[in-house]
Amino acid sequence: MKSSLRIIFFNKNKNSIEYIFILLVLLTLPLITGGCVTEEAITIPEEIPQPDPVDENDLMDSILRIDIQNMDVKLEYIPDEDVLIGESIIEFSMRPGQMIPLIHFDPAGSDTIGNINLNGEDLDINDPSDIKMITFEETTQEGIELLRECGNDEVNILIIKYRIGYSNGYGSFYSDVNDIYGVGNEAVFPSINCPSDLSTHRITFSVVSDRSYSFIGSGKVTEIENNNNLKWILDTEREVASYTVMWMLVPEEDIDFEERVIDGVDVRIMTYKESVSIDSAFEILESWLPELRTNIGVFPMERGLDVFLTQGGGGMEYFGATITSLSALEHEVFHMYFGCSVVAKTYRDSWWDEAINMWYEYSAAGSSSPVIQSFSSNIVSGRTPVSVGFDDRAYNDGARVIESIASEMGGREIFIDFLSHIYSNYIFSPFNTFELIDYILEFSGIDFEERMINWLYSGARVYYSASETNGRDYHKVDMTPPENIRIKYQ
Ligand SMILES: [Zn+2]
Repeated sequence: MKSSLRIIFFNKNKNSIEYIFILLVLLTLPLITGGCVTEEAITIPEEIPQPDPVDENDLMDSILRIDIQNMDVKLEYIPDEDVLIGESIIEFSMRPGQMIPLIHFDPAGSDTIGNINLNGEDLDINDPSDIKMITFEETTQEGIELLRECGNDEVNILIIKYRIGYSNGYGSFYSDVNDIYGVGNEAVFPSINCPSDLSTHRITFSVVSDRSYSFIGSGKVTEIENNNNLKWILDTEREVASYTVMWMLVPEEDIDFEERVIDGVDVRIMTYKESVSIDSAFEILESWLPELRTNIGVFPMERGLDVFLTQGGGGMEYFGATITSLSALEHEVFHMYFGCSVVAKTYRDSWWDEAINMWYEYSAAGSSSPVIQSFSSNIVSGRTPVSVGFDDRAYNDGARVIESIASEMGGREIFIDFLSHIYSNYIFSPFNTFELIDYILEFSGIDFEERMINWLYSGARVYYSASETNGRDYHKVDMTPPENIRIKYQ
């Protein structure tokens, strides 16, 4: 079944630091009875004024503007100078109805960007008729607006050369995405930070240093020697979301590395010397990878899995890769299926990849519980479809929503069958929450739409994100190396 038209209502609450967004759905589910079509409408709570309707796709088109197909990036890391020199070649087309392109690039500024060239024309970052730096009301994302009209049917080429400060203190260079905070790889190369903007990434890494370096990352990695210096070309080989591209470039003398094939998956694990046991990680994967293959499907990334093990903290999933502690390893590897290959359309829809992940864990332990009858929240609608980062209620409240669905569908095994069905049918086809509701209906015959509106699109509690609250940094990845390495870089 194709999704019925969904309309998003916006309501600006002046007392709130964020907008309160109420997404209500005109239940256009045509109930065909006796030859006539009836429509039901969800009742809007009286105290909330009804704002103007906005279509989700139109909003994404107008805010994101471009659709990137290919990115060819060169990144040269100079650890002794704490500098990163970049050159990005971006092939993009305009989204429907859009003419003036923009791109996300957080360190952008006249002191960082050396050159911008759009379709063969040099643009001057200091000339307001060429370039405008913009922020959006609906998101914390910053953009560079390129003040030239681009046609809808053309492939456009944007080249940006830049030099930015980069230091993490330990002579290494790595992707540091935090999808709860909404920080993607636009922190180091121009991109569109949105889960459903999928593009092929080809990134060439090089280091200017006397030290030897080692590299792991998402996709195919080719090591080439160039004048006694190594370069690594990372090729995702397929379109992926930019924020799911991982790399780890680290001094060789500081790491242990081991590669094994587990259940047909090529697994490469790197960690700091004298920190975490690589064997323990392999041991976890020895049972985890076969379980996920049996329950959900063949491991999604042909190139296998790259893991950088940290001493503590949480983890972050990437396409075919993760930077994670041992304790978060299973969670991050589960995301290879839901999060990195079955992809949410927007960050706010990302609630489901965390919710499904946590539900799988809780239900296996027999500790999952459904939401109570009257549960309502605005996990999804507390924000716009173009905002970055997601609401961290996704983990626990979200897992309970999934348990409510799973138990009504008939229990854990049936819901896992559904996950396998989703995985085989919608891999790399980003979908939003309403499409997920449709998929559940198609699979089980049970319509959760009305309840999901209560569970995810209602409720008075205002959206909160980790980035807006203090002391909620428990989701962060902790890259601190062990003492013996730390002292080397002091
Ligand atoms: Zn997660």
